[in-house]
Amino acid sequence: MIFYSTTKASAPVTMKKATLEGLAPDGGLYVPSTMPHFSAEEIALLENGSFNNIAFAVAKKFAGDEIPLDRLSELIDECFTFDTPLHELDPDTFVEELFHGPTLAFKDYGARFLARMTGYFAAEESRLITVLVATSGDTGSAVAYGFHGIPNTRVVLLYPSGKVSRLQEQQLTTAGDNVFALEVKGDFDDCQRLVKQAFVDQSLRQKLTLTSANSINISRLIPQSFYYAWAALQLRQRKPDALPIFSVPSGNYGNLTAGVMAKMMGFPIGHFIAASNANDSVTRYLDEGRYEPKPTVRTLTTAMDVGNPSNFARLRYFFENDFRKMGQEITGIAVSDAETLETIRSVYEKYGYVMDPHTAVGYRALDRFRQDHAGAGTPGVVLSTAHPVKFDEAIKEATGNEVPLPETMEEIMSKPKKATLIGNRYEELARFLSELNTQTN
Ligand SMILES: *Cc1c(COP(=O)(O)O)cnc(C)c1O
Repeated sequence: MIFYSTTKASAPVTMKKATLEGLAPDGGLYVPSTMPHFSAEEIALLENGSFNNIAFAVAKKFAGDEIPLDRLSELIDECFTFDTPLHELDPDTFVEELFHGPTLAFKDYGARFLARMTGYFAAEESRLITVLVATSGDTGSAVAYGFHGIPNTRVVLLYPSGKVSRLQEQQLTTAGDNVFALEVKGDFDDCQRLVKQAFVDQSLRQKLTLTSANSINISRLIPQSFYYAWAALQLRQRKPDALPIFSVPSGNYGNLTAGVMAKMMGFPIGHFIAASNANDSVTRYLDEGRYEPKPTVRTLTTAMDVGNPSNFARLRYFFENDFRKMGQEITGIAVSDAETLETIRSVYEKYGYVMDPHTAVGYRALDRFRQDHAGAGTPGVVLSTAHPVKFDEAIKEATGNEVPLPETMEEIMSKPKKATLIGNRYEELARFLSELNTQTN
C-alpha cells in the first residue's frame, strides 16, 4: 500500500516507510493513497470469522504487498491474544470492551500492532529502532508492554516522578529487557520537552535511529479499525438490517479516525458519535464549521484532555475539509464531569455494570443522541476504552464500591520496579541515550 501525506507536499511512501517515520517530512500525517474496499461478498465471507480472521483480512489490504502473508498472519496472532467481548446491556445497547489487553486500555491494540510492524520492518533493514516516548500514563504502558521482547526495537519512556498512579507506574517500570523507564524529576511537560529536544539533536540522531510511538503513526491506527469491523459483523448476525451507531470517547481522535476508515472500507456501520469531555474543539467545529483549538482543560477523563487533537488533520482529510460532510457521518457531543459521574452511578444501578469514566462519556453521549435523533431499534455500541480499575477513585465516588484488580494486573503489581531517576535537564537524557548501546536492563 502506498501512503500520502495529508498535506501532499512530500513524496508517497510504502507502509514500511510510513511506519518507521511516523510523521511525514512535511509535517503531515500519512493516509492510504486509496482506501481498501471490501465487497459485499468479501464481507459475507468474514461474517463468521474470528477477530483475528477479520484483523488479518484488513491488515492484508494494507501490508500484504510488503509482508509475506503467513508472517503477517503470525504477527496478528501474536498481537491479539486476548478477547474483545461485546457486552449486551439491553437488546439495543452494547459495550465493546477494549480493555482486556495486558495494560487494560484500548491502546494495547494500536501499540501491539505498531510494535510488530516496526520490529518486522526494522529487521528487514537490519536496524535497531529506539522508540522514545513521554507519557502521563496509558500510552507509555501500552508501548512498554507492546514492544517488550520485540527484536530490533527498544523503548525509552519518560514519565513524571510522583505524577502517575501506582498501577500505571508498575506498568511503566516492570517490563524490563528492551524497555527502559526514566523517572523524571519534573512534570509531564518536562518529559515532552526532553523528548522533543532529543528528536532535534542531530549528533544523537547520528548514533541512534529514533522514532516516536504516538497515535499519528498509521500502524497504530490500522489495528484500531479491526474492532469496529468485528463489532459491526457480530451485530449484523443479530440484526441483519440495522446499521449500528458507534459512540467513541475521544481525545486525540485516533480511535474515531480508525472507525471512519472501517466504514470507508465497506463494513456495515451507520453513524459515529464523537464523545468528548469539556475539551470540545471538534464538537464546536462540527456545529459551526470553524476549528478553534483551545488550551487543554483538566477533567475527570484525563486520557481525553486534549485541546488540539493530533488526528484531526487526518479526519478532515477524509471528509475533504468539509464540516458538513463530516457532520453527516459524525455527531459531536460533549459531556460534563458531573454527568460522567452520574452516568457511572445510573448505569451501575440499572444494569449492575461498572464502566470507567471514559466509557461513561461515550454512554452518556449515545443516550443523548438517541433522545435527539435516532429512533428506537438502532443498535448502539459504546467503545469501552479502559478497565474501571484504572480509574478506581471515580468509580468509588460514583458507586461507593472498590473495583477488584484483574489477575493479570496482580502479577504486574508484584514485579520489582526498575527505573532510572533523572533530572529535567536535557544533558541527562542525552547522556542516558548515548550510553544506551552499552546498557542492559
Ligand atoms: C487514549 C484514550 C482515549 C482517547 O482516544 P483517542 O484515540 O486519543 O481519541 C480515551 N479513553 C482512554 C481510556 C484512553 O486511554
